[in-house]
Amino acid sequence: MVSELDRLVRAVDDPELPHVTIGDLGMVRSVEVDGNAAHVRLTPTYTGCPATEQIRSDVESAVLAAGYEPSVEFVMSPPWSTDDITDQGRAKLTAAGIAPPGAAADGPVALDLPVACPHCNSRRTRLTSAFGATACKALHMCEACRQPFESFKAI
Ligand SMILES: [Zn+2]
Repeated sequence: MVSELDRLVRAVDDPELPHVTIGDLGMVRSVEVDGNAAHVRLTPTYTGCPATEQIRSDVESAVLAAGYEPSVEFVMSPPWSTDDITDQGRAKLTAAGIAPPGAAADGPVALDLPVACPHCNSRRTRLTSAFGATACKALHMCEACRQPFESFKAI
């Protein structure tokens, strides 16, 4: 059963991805309430993602606002993988113009296959930079619709 506090924690936005929550990204491992204290376990996404500390502080604020004393712990095992992103999260990423990793609908995808363009779904895309706006995303250019886009790196 998902508690109200659990729901609030999962609704915290990822600071780098507007409208995409940490619940959508599959980062929330557990939310345990013990009396007045709430213990939240999160798994960070990409190592070195500068958003990690921002997420900790946003989760603490959400827990405090719900009337609990927060303790936020980052757990590295099992490691987060792009497979943890929910279907809703993938849909939101696509809607935001960011190609979600390894489009599940396509079945198994070879690692060297170009990322599908989130604007027109063409695979005639090329990587323009391994580092996008942040260390967590890559920049691509679509040859079909001539639009640049970002992708989540699959890990
Ligand atoms: Zn395109």
